[in-house]
Amino acid sequence: MPLVYLILGGNKGNRTEMISTAIDLVTSHIGQKMAISGLYESESWGFKSEPFINQVIKIETPLSPAKILLLSQEIENKLGRVRKSEGYEARTIDIDILYYDLMVINTPDLIVPHPKIAVRRFVLMPLTEIAPDLKDPVTGITVMEMLANCPDGSLVKLIAKKDKG
Ligand code: ADP
Ligand code: MG
Repeated sequence: MPLVYLILGGNKGNRTEMISTAIDLVTSHIGQKMAISGLYESESWGFKSEPFINQVIKIETPLSPAKILLLSQEIENKLGRVRKSEGYEARTIDIDILYYDLMVINTPDLIVPHPKIAVRRFVLMPLTEIAPDLKDPVTGITVMEMLANCPDGSLVKLIAKKDKG
């Protein structure tokens, strides 16, 4: 069965609770949890915003990439939007597909591997924790090597180690 890596992130509301609820929805609707990183906090710089919390999860799923994208967006919508009188608040949870086995996908809606992996420290830190030797099918470079060569100088810190599960 395909192995898929997802990154979840958020910077609004109760961020850890939001991520934890999103993880529960991912594992109940998209695929079984095979591995999960700790929680990482990354300060946003360049613009004023709350720091982000990110976590990477590896799941096993029979679903197609398109179906995973659809279900991820449903989870984003369900969790991330708080109904207000004047409309909707900004999304609080973002779920991106990093890898789907070693498949390469280039469609208008979905690019896999996610094109920004190598330049985002907040992706590479949690991903290195659970998949250091995964070799990117496009570049042939491992996750660990990408982290070692990552040009992104922003601060990313581990704030909670992974749970036993
Ligand atoms: P971002 O993730 O860049 O902050 P969004 O979550 O709003 O922004 O995503 C914008 C679009 O990116 C989605 O509608 C989706 O179709 C597209 N997309 C392309 N590749 C991916 C991927 N690997 N994972 C998730 N979304 C993707
Ligand atoms: Mg996204």
